[in-house]
Formats: sequence, structure tokens, C-alpha cells
Amino acid sequence: MKLTFYGGVKEIGGTKILLEDKNTAIFLDFGKSYHESSKYFEEFLNPRVVHGLKDYLELGLLPKKEGIYRWDLISILHKENEKKINYCEPKIDGIILSHGHLDHAGYISFLDPKIPVYTSKETVAVLNAFSISRPKSLENEILEISLRDVEDPKKRKRRRRKFKIVNNMKPFFIKDLKIVPISIDHSLPGAYMFLIKTSKGNILYSGDFRLSELTEIRKQKIYSFFKKAKIKILLCEGTRIKDQSILTEQEVYKKALASVKKTKELVVVDYSIGDIMRFKTLLKIAKETKRILALPYNYFNYLMTMEKNGILKKNGIRKSDFKKVMLYAKRKITFKKWERDLLKNFKTCTSDDIRVNKRNFMLVLNFFQVQELIDIKPDKNSYYLRAITEPHSEEMEISEERFINWVKHFKMQGLKKDKDNPKRKVFERAHISGHISGKELAEFIKKIQPEILIPIHVEFPEEFKKMHKKVIMLKKNECLEFN
Ligand SMILES: [Zn+2]
Repeated sequence: MKLTFYGGVKEIGGTKILLEDKNTAIFLDFGKSYHESSKYFEEFLNPRVVHGLKDYLELGLLPKKEGIYRWDLISILHKENEKKINYCEPKIDGIILSHGHLDHAGYISFLDPKIPVYTSKETVAVLNAFSISRPKSLENEILEISLRDVEDPKKRKRRRRKFKIVNNMKPFFIKDLKIVPISIDHSLPGAYMFLIKTSKGNILYSGDFRLSELTEIRKQKIYSFFKKAKIKILLCEGTRIKDQSILTEQEVYKKALASVKKTKELVVVDYSIGDIMRFKTLLKIAKETKRILALPYNYFNYLMTMEKNGILKKNGIRKSDFKKVMLYAKRKITFKKWERDLLKNFKTCTSDDIRVNKRNFMLVLNFFQVQELIDIKPDKNSYYLRAITEPHSEEMEISEERFINWVKHFKMQGLKKDKDNPKRKVFERAHISGHISGKELAEFIKKIQPEILIPIHVEFPEEFKKMHKKVIMLKKNECLEFN
């Protein structure tokens, strides 16, 4: 049995782990590494789509490996005299996809559509929502590929990728490999862990997860299931391993409610589009403070896709809760069909409506839509609620600084003095992460007692040594063999 780590080593995201056991080979996720990609690219400096895989392979963003990529993309390489990889029938039997965040799913776009993707029904719905509102591009072909053997996009043939739906605790087989999917909580619906029964023992792949929103009974059930499963290798995420604080969504609710309650005029809020639990919190606050929750096109589209798939209902959000939700009809010159459909089918409000009636609205605007404030004209009686993660990269910090300048420009509330530098302002924040804290992680590992621990999706893998006696430290592209 072999494990090869093509990504997700000493970094958050980009997870691409190849598991080979006897005659079966599968990938555990096939994500985009934002960290690696940002070494070479930024906005307006992107991999050249017309060259297909070329830029990605050159810069090590994708592994140089035969038997995994789309034939149309390989044929572009060959036309350009790049003979690094030849096309052959897939050497991979499947991809098991833990959840729909693009640092786990994004680069599936490049893979041969003959390779089936095993994931939850919710994850397919999430990917579907993202694919509608993201611009059409080579990196947005997870669900449907547009064959690049002709250059004219209108003449290209389309092909749906094969998705096989897996269900909580229902084992399935990929060839001889038995796999048990375990539904787990994360900041996106449909996240799963996978227990893989290999010839050399059981592997647990954690995906991204948190335990803080689960009831004590459910947590104990999970611990005892994993303990009984006798885990040989735990592939464990450690995004927040250095963070000891355990927060709950209920605390986010209380903090945000207090801020909204004391706001005389408009509340503008930013949250992560995929986070249904946060949407539910904001909806509750809007209801209690008698405000209309106004959402941009992409957020509205996401929620409607979740609604169609029964995911809102499953999360305790009813259709009647949408009575006080409106689509924020941002002015545009051209509209995509999905945007026109939303405008036709749902109640809308404009910047003029909000400007003359600020007290009645809670408006969702993220960084890329912040210019709308110019039309809405908020002032010191309005509040900016930051319900999203703290910046954790240099680029995010630069964006955050720009964002703060917008809030300062309009003299809105929502900023406070930075503890470390009183001259600087930072956002008051109401947010909890989708990732387990270091403190809970130590408990999780202690309870399930894996024989070997392999840190993934973590910047500080050495921290795991404080929690387990047998931790394997990895390098990118390293292959581990277990005999
Ligand atoms: Zn995630």
C-alpha cells in the first residue's frame, strides 16, 4: 500500500493524495493550492487557458502524471511539442471528494471524465451552485467539461463528469477497496470523512471538519465508531492547530445581534457564500431586528440551488423564512441568463430603495461588490458587520486593509483599535471557523487512538507531535510505502 502526497503538505488546501493498494488506485480530493498558485499568479496574471495543462505542469501546480488527465488537454500539449505526458486510459479508479471547497475540489476540472468522483449529494449541489455563478473557464469544469479539441467555444462538445453519490455510514467499493463515508460538520454542507479499508489496515481521511457544533452524544458516537474501527493511519487536517479557542455559532449570533440592535441605519454584512449556518444566523438576526435581508446575485443563486436540493430544509430553514429576503439588483450592462432568471422570479431591491430606507435593510456585500456603497451612501449611523474569517495570507491582509479604507471613507461603525498597534484600525468580527481547534484536535486524537498520524492541510505539522507519539512529517510529492 502506497500514499503519495501531491498537495496539502505544509499548506492549507491543495489536497491531492494518491492511495494505491494492490490493483486499486484512488485520489483523496484533487484541490487547487491557492498558496502554490499565488507564488506565480495574481489577479490579471493567470495560467494561459489556451495552453491547457502546460503552465500548471511547468510550475508544479499539477502533478506530472500519466493516466489521470483529459485527452483534449494532453492533445494540446502534443500539438505544442510538449511530450512530457502521453494520453492513456485512466490509471485511477476514482476520486473520493470530501467536500466542495475549491481547495479540495477545484482541479478535478483537469481530470479525465472517465474517472468517477464519489461524493455526497450536497457536495454535488454546492459544486453546481458554484459552477453557475463563477465565470466560465478551464478551472470551472468540475461538473461539465467543454472539450478543448476545437478552439471556438461555441463548437466545443460538452461532457458531464460521472458523479457517484455516497451516503452517511453506507459502505461502498471502488474495485476491492471498501470505503465508509462519515458525514461531518464543516462550514459548507455535505462534508465527509472517509474510512478506507486497505490491505495494510484502516486509513481515516479527515477532510476539513469541526466538532464544536455537534451535540455531546453525537461526538461520543463518532469517537467510539473510530476507536472500534482501529485506525492504522489518520490523515488529519490541522488548519487551526495553534488556536485553542472554541467558539460556537450561538456566540456569533449573540455578538452580531448586539451590534445590529444598536445600529440606527443600514447594516452591511459579509460572510462566506457557502456557509449555510451563518446565513441562518443572519436571517434570524434580520428577523428579530425587523430588517429585510438583501443578497447579491451569487449568494441568492447559491441559496436557491440549496433550496432545490432540500439542503435548506435539512438545516432548518423554511421557504417561509424567505419572505423577508430580497435579491439586491445591482446595476449591470449585461446579465447572464441565471441572473436574468433570478430578477424575473424573486423580489428585488435596488441601491435607491436601500438609500432612502436604510433602517429597514441588512445588505450582504463582499469585497468585490463594495463599490455599491457609493450609491447607497451609508454614514456614521450605519454598521459594517464582518462575519468572515480573519486574513491568513499577505494578499488577504492587503485586501482587508482596502476594505477598511472603504468603511473609514463612509465613516461607518464596525472598526476598533488594533490591540497590538493602537494607531491601526481592525474590524470588529463575528465569526467562527469551519475547522477544529487545537484543543479539540488533541482530544479527538486521544479518543480515536490511531497508530500513525500524518498531518495534512496544516502550516505547522510539527505541532501534531505534541498530540501523538508517531507522527510522519512529509515533503511535497513524497511517497510513503506501508508493507
Ligand atoms: Zn473546507
